[in-house]
Amino acid sequence: MSCNDMPKTPAPMQPRTPESVPSESRNGARVRGNDKAPEGLYAPNRNILTPNMRSPEYVQLSTAAAITLGIMKGYMHRTQCTRCLNLLLTYPEGCRANCAYCGLARHREGERDYADRNFIRVDWPAVPYEEVLEIVASGRDGVRGGGHFQRMCISMITHPDSERDTPELLGRWTARMPGIPVSILSNPTTMTRSDVKELHDLGADIFTVALDAAAPELFERTRGRGVQSPHDWDKYWQILEAAADIFGPEKFGAHLIAGMGESEHEMLTQVQRLRDMGGHSHMFAFFPEKGSLMDHLPPVPRPQWRRVQLARYLIDYRGVRLEQMGFGNDGRLRDCGVTEAALEKIIESGLPFRTSGCPGREAPDVSACDRPYGDSPVSDIASYPFALNKSDIRKVKRQLRRDG
Ligand code: SF4
Repeated sequence: MSCNDMPKTPAPMQPRTPESVPSESRNGARVRGNDKAPEGLYAPNRNILTPNMRSPEYVQLSTAAAITLGIMKGYMHRTQCTRCLNLLLTYPEGCRANCAYCGLARHREGERDYADRNFIRVDWPAVPYEEVLEIVASGRDGVRGGGHFQRMCISMITHPDSERDTPELLGRWTARMPGIPVSILSNPTTMTRSDVKELHDLGADIFTVALDAAAPELFERTRGRGVQSPHDWDKYWQILEAAADIFGPEKFGAHLIAGMGESEHEMLTQVQRLRDMGGHSHMFAFFPEKGSLMDHLPPVPRPQWRRVQLARYLIDYRGVRLEQMGFGNDGRLRDCGVTEAALEKIIESGLPFRTSGCPGREAPDVSACDRPYGDSPVSDIASYPFALNKSDIRKVKRQLRRDG
């Protein structure tokens, strides 16, 4: 079958309808009204009054980054640190979008203050940005110090101040840590081409867009009007095209989440489109985030996930094209377009199954952004945040052989 007369999308994974938020909780009113001054590290806690924290003075960071910085205690299965310092802009009003799979979404305003919401399965403590800069500049990050981060990433959210504050955070970082490159996870909805250019000129290394949904209708259903959210598929691609032009090949990319109702062919079509533009896709396994509008839905089946992970790697790093691959009537990947022997060697390397994202110092196809357990529990790892051992490879092979 040719890839152009491709079959239908599987049955939709329908998000819940967002409930209306009481007016006294809208737009961070509770936090702004109480105006409690923050003091140092804030660990998410829904039972206390959340302080009034705002970027650029404050940022949130992943639990893994907080452990690596040494400002929180914790244990991460089979990995002591993360190599990417993932930062998130923070405001009492929170993200004004309402994406169905996201723990930060606006519909949660009535239930939790913004800084207390879980995101990609973990808490995001908040900390003064200056403290982050001081720890990294003095090389105190990492379990035994000595500097561990290979990359920093600023995640913008959909908030009117994020275009103003992101350049500020970026400029302060590049002035003190020119050796640790910065990625931007952007907010295309409120951005223009000149915002992209400004971030490039200020020294951002890689520009990314969280496209997340792999088809226009699915995007609309999970990030657009389907859930009273402002995002638009075409606007996202406009900003991606601007990034391709301004940042250039290998220096831009897009996030995609597998298993939200798209077919494998639809997913890999976007992967190929990005590669043809010169960029890379960073793939996440759908996991029902607690409190999100999709928390009642199943995670992506592992066989499907392993197939798209493998095919993404082949397209992004081994020069295989979508047109060489074979698909069934249901859009499922049937043939990877390479010989059995070549495929076996690539699977044995384990590389396709590691967390995908912006690279660090190890190799172009090894992500610094390892996001430990951001898309699965440790009992059933989707994206491996470390090199796979022989037992991991055997497990992945079993999953690839399974139907589903
Ligand atoms: S724009 Fe990003 S942070 Fe905001 S709700 Fe959507 S996915 Fe979450």
